[in-house]
Amino acid sequence: MHDDIAKVLIDAETIQAKVRELGERLSRDYAGLNPVLICILKGAVIFAADLVRQLSIPAKLDFMAISSYGSGMRTSGVVRILKDLDRSIEGEHVIIVEDIVDSGLTLSYLLENLKSRQPASLKTCVLLDKPAQRQVPLEPDYVGFDIPDEFVVGYGLDYAENYRHLPYIGVLKPHVYEGVSQ
Ligand code: 5GP
Repeated sequence: MHDDIAKVLIDAETIQAKVRELGERLSRDYAGLNPVLICILKGAVIFAADLVRQLSIPAKLDFMAISSYGSGMRTSGVVRILKDLDRSIEGEHVIIVEDIVDSGLTLSYLLENLKSRQPASLKTCVLLDKPAQRQVPLEPDYVGFDIPDEFVVGYGLDYAENYRHLPYIGVLKPHVYEGVSQ
């Protein structure tokens, strides 16, 4: 285990099994629809890359990069689009693929934004859900795991751009973000 990780919340095998299950569900639900998966950079990139390889149906992949203003570990809900989609999604069956929902502000912004582009359908698939801190009513359509209100890293999720490469989801040791050595 990485030195900065206090505990592993979800190990690599458990993640892979869940991604397989989500892939199977999406393949059933979207059979014949040729959906567009929209990966929200950067956090969802590992999840999306694994998820598309578990689909047994044709699907398209596009990317949006966003940055949310907020201090440190919390989002403010004010979202800026850094990279927009390459293609129009009008008339398409769209699935937003996101790493984690916390307050729900980021995902509800994305839903509003993408809804205005008139897709045929619009759903959300998130790996992690932290329902405890929700500030807007939002239920993702496909959820990997409900997790407690702890700051997690790994499997694409970062702290200050670190830890994305870890194959598991872990909780950081407090000294890492408090800036004091232990
Ligand atoms: P929300 O807008 O739902 O509060 O937050 C969503 C975004 O906040 C996620 O896309 C992610 O970038 C960040 N976030 C929320 N909780 C965590 C967490 O526990 N760990 C990490 N690394 N990012 C988080």
